Amino acid sequence: MATSQLDSLINSFNSLTINKCQITLSQKNKPQLFLNGYFYRFSYESDNQINWRCVVNGCKAKCCTDGMEIGSEYLVSFKNTSDDKHPTHAQKNGLIERKEKRRKIKEATTTIAKIAPTIAPRQILSSFANEIRNKEAIALMPSYDADRQAINRFKRSVRPNYPPEPKLLSDITLPDFLTHTLEDENEETQAFLIYDSGVEDPNRFFMFGTEENFSLIETAHLFADGTFSIAPKLFEQVYTMYALIKGRCVSLIYCLLPRKNQKIYEDVLTYMEETWIGYEEEKEVGREEPEVPSFPIAVTSEEQEKDTCIKWLKE
Ligand SMILES: [Zn+2]
Repeated sequence: MATSQLDSLINSFNSLTINKCQITLSQKNKPQLFLNGYFYRFSYESDNQINWRCVVNGCKAKCCTDGMEIGSEYLVSFKNTSDDKHPTHAQKNGLIERKEKRRKIKEATTTIAKIAPTIAPRQILSSFANEIRNKEAIALMPSYDADRQAINRFKRSVRPNYPPEPKLLSDITLPDFLTHTLEDENEETQAFLIYDSGVEDPNRFFMFGTEENFSLIETAHLFADGTFSIAPKLFEQVYTMYALIKGRCVSLIYCLLPRKNQKIYEDVLTYMEETWIGYEEEKEVGREEPEVPSFPIAVTSEEQEKDTCIKWLKE
C-alpha cells in the first residue's frame, strides 16, 4: 500500500467518530449533551426526538437524540451533513469528565448532607478518586480545594433553616424537624424530643430518644455517662443513658444538661422514675427480662463502657 493511501486511511480512521453522546448537567442545572468535544443545549422536543444545538452563540451545529436522561448515553443523529460542523470554535475534550465528576459530587453531597450535615468533604471526595481516566481531563480537573469548596456550597444549599444561635437557655426554640426522627421507610417520623424541663427552669435541660427507647429503660439495668467535649454551647454535657439488653449495652437516651451538679442528675433521674420507670414500692411485679428492641443494637465501645461514671441499678 502506497504511503499516501495509508495516510488517507489513517486520516479517515481519525475522523471516524462514533456518535455516542453523554447527557450531563450544565452549571445552571439544565441538561447538556456532550459529543466529541462539543457541548449542546436542549433546544426543543418533537416526535419523541430531543433536539439540541451547540452552546456557542452563533454556531449552527445541531443534533438529535431520543432521550435526555442525565448521566445516560445516547446515539446522536444529524438531520443535515453540515449539522455537525463547528466552524467558529474548537472542541473541548476532557471537559466532560470534569463536568460529570462535579455533577456526581453534587448529587452525592446533596443526598448525604441531608442525613449527615457534618460529613467532611474528603469523605465524599474519596469515593470519586477513580472517576477520571484520561490525561487531558486530569489536567483540567479542579484542585482538591475547588472540589472541597463546591461540596461545602452544595451542603449549604440543602442545609435546613436553623434558628439563630440562642444566647440563653430560655431562648432555645427547637424547630419541628429537630424534635422528630428522620422518616422511616413508610415516611413516618417519631417524636425525638421527649422532655424539655421548660423555659422557666434556670437549669433547663432536654432529653432525646424515641418513646420506645424510653420505655426500654423500665426493666433494664441502666448505665449513664456524661460526655463533655461534644456539648453544644450553653450546655455542659451530653448525658447518655444505656440499657443492658441481651448482654449488650445500648444507648437509648441523650440528655443535654447545662450543669454537672447533683441537682441536675437528681432532676433527670426523678423525671425518669416518675414518668418512665415507676417507684419500686408501687410496682406489683418483679423485674422482667427486657424485650429485644425493634431497632438494630449498637454496641458502645469498650472505652465508653469502662468510663461509665454512674451505674444506676434498680433491683
Ligand atoms: Zn458549535
